Amino acid sequence: MENDTIAAISTPVGEGGIAVIRVSGPEAVEVVDRVYKGKRSLTEVDTHTVHYGHILHPETKEVLDEVLVTVMRAPRTFTREDVVEVSCHGGVVPVQKVLEALLTAGARLAEPGEFTKRAFLNGRIDLSQAEAVIDLIRSKTDRAARVAMDQARGRLSRLIRKLRQEILETLAHLAVNVDYPEYDAEELTAKTLLSRCRQIEGEILRLLETARQGKILRDGIATVIVGRPNVGKSSLLNALSQENKAIVTDIPGTTRDVIEEYVNVRGIPLRLVDTAGIRETEDVVERIGVERSRRALEQADLVLLVLNYAEPLTEDDRKLLEAVRSHTAIVVVNKTDLERRIDLEEVRRLIGDTPLVTLSLKEERGLDRLEEAIGELFFAGKVEGTEATYVSNVRHIHLLERALGNVRDAIAGIEGNIPLDMVEIDLKNAWQHLGEIIGEAVSEDLIDQIFSQFCLGK
Ligand code: GDP
Ligand code: ZN
Repeated sequence: MENDTIAAISTPVGEGGIAVIRVSGPEAVEVVDRVYKGKRSLTEVDTHTVHYGHILHPETKEVLDEVLVTVMRAPRTFTREDVVEVSCHGGVVPVQKVLEALLTAGARLAEPGEFTKRAFLNGRIDLSQAEAVIDLIRSKTDRAARVAMDQARGRLSRLIRKLRQEILETLAHLAVNVDYPEYDAEELTAKTLLSRCRQIEGEILRLLETARQGKILRDGIATVIVGRPNVGKSSLLNALSQENKAIVTDIPGTTRDVIEEYVNVRGIPLRLVDTAGIRETEDVVERIGVERSRRALEQADLVLLVLNYAEPLTEDDRKLLEAVRSHTAIVVVNKTDLERRIDLEEVRRLIGDTPLVTLSLKEERGLDRLEEAIGELFFAGKVEGTEATYVSNVRHIHLLERALGNVRDAIAGIEGNIPLDMVEIDLKNAWQHLGEIIGEAVSEDLIDQIFSQFCLGK
């Protein structure tokens, strides 16, 4: 066990104004006390109490900030170590100075994710809960946050544990038959074994079914808006952004003009890709041609193809209509406030099952129907109000898929009458892969890799 004392700025999600510095480790209280001045020494106060005071510069004794200090003794803390939280008031600069003072007083700057890592290593939370904390920090919408929160509360872990228990029981029965084939009393026929395996298969499949939705909630739906010049792409982008508070992110390490923009449509995060081209005055299709927009389509989870209600279809429109047929798309016919010149019957013929929405961005009519169509495409009405557990983490998805493969091998083996000890190996592998989801039997490297994804201070 690591036993130095770590510190980092760890402002809680959703809180402005105040910044919190969290200190954890065997000397947490002593370290803070060295630079704290209040009515009483922090080493004498009761656990889980809050104290008003000041943080002083370790050498000059100058007052750095007015603070509230919360002292929490192990083990009833997030890391199960002694934890002290220092709430600072004075904005960015004083916070930095307080942190520096604490580092001078004996703390070490925490690595990204180190608090959560300690919570995991000290048995406070399991790995899937820890990963949920990462997702929580990154989550883009309320709904995504709720999924991450449920996972953090251990819902996924409970289901995985239950599944592993079922596999373990099956293995126990199997072992009796493998080790004492002459001992028939504990009868485990191929038939009962098969039905147990099928049940486990079904439960893994059900978890995996939630994975696509979970991933979408976490990463956002990669959405591309295409269409000829002047049909209203920029207007659509603006309408979606205004109504749904866009978050513009400049992705570091990529070219400056690659901008991703998130909009929250009824709890579903759309990640609008390649919006830079649309935001500029010149148009994507004009600038990069139909050929390149086809390629942009390949990267998209959702294509919004915009057409002009007031103009007959052009060749470019038809090419784009044809191109989106093989994608998840919605055809948006804009400018219904003008006189109709488009042949909607032809459009319907060309798009088959693809949903079509007519609207007027200018008069702000019909946008709600577009949002509804987006919701239906991705959740088929299944999300709201259900108690489903969403598997949203790519690592979990891979492990579930591997466990599913193992169980299916076992099923094929039983059906093919292969020796039972081979079936036993498949089931053991399934048990192992599920265990990796909740952090049982994972390697040090993997743990480090997972925790290094955290923001500092969490
Ligand atoms: P883009 O070139 O596809 O990005 O199209 P823009 O969003 O820049 O819009 C082109 C022009 O159409 C602008 O002058 C818009 O004001 C106008 N426009 C957008 N939506 C509508 C609409 O619903 N009705 C009408 N009459 N004009 C619209
Ligand atoms: Zn435009």
